[in-house]
Amino acid sequence: MPIAIAIDGPAGAGKSTIAKLAAKELNFIYVDTGALYRTVGLAATKNNVEPKTSVQVDELLSKIKVELTFNHKNEQIVLLDGEDVSSQIRTPEASMMASAISAVPAVRAYLLDLQRNIAKTNNVIMDGRDIGTVVLPDAQIKIFLSADPEDRAKRRYDELVEKGMDVKYEDILADVIERDYNDSHREIAPLKPAEDSIMVNTTGNTLEQSVELLIGIMKENM
Ligand code: C5P
Repeated sequence: MPIAIAIDGPAGAGKSTIAKLAAKELNFIYVDTGALYRTVGLAATKNNVEPKTSVQVDELLSKIKVELTFNHKNEQIVLLDGEDVSSQIRTPEASMMASAISAVPAVRAYLLDLQRNIAKTNNVIMDGRDIGTVVLPDAQIKIFLSADPEDRAKRRYDELVEKGMDVKYEDILADVIERDYNDSHREIAPLKPAEDSIMVNTTGNTLEQSVELLIGIMKENM
């Protein structure tokens, strides 16, 4: 049976950067499930769909096609109706839309099999909000990764600035706090640690320290 490692936690805790490096080291496939919610969010924006209007969301889901593929470097690519939208889904607006649309039960149901199917045939490190609790409750290793909001906002800010985006730290911090609230207070699959998860807080760590810590935990528990 393939091995599954679930990493959950709030926005900006470093999940994706750390999971990507750990997957390389362990020769696992890294699956970023946030990208799927972002893609549905992008589809909603493009089609002027309001996340709170369930009829509109149902209709949207019946007509779009979201796919996950991997390039020759095993990097994840998300397709919306056949188009690679991997960069389009990375804006702060797309983050907020993803957070809003991810609270819709039909959207979570729509993406569930897609996520589970990858783990059926591959060793995966999958990151998200509900991987250890809902998507892969039988994952061999579950990690809940967190850090203080200010620390997480600073990381997101640095990432976006490096990509050449014109953003303000205060806006990013406000986004992080708002998304934390939305993600942990929604009725369906709220962000919370699985009972059997290993809690890791990376506040004040360098990226290298966090990567080393997590790979150590994974190897110890495999
Ligand atoms: O991880 P990322 O920040 O890209 O996720 C974008 C949004 O998608 C999150 O704020 C969250 O609302 C939602 N999400 C989710 N469940 C997941 C992954 C992401 O609800 N497994």
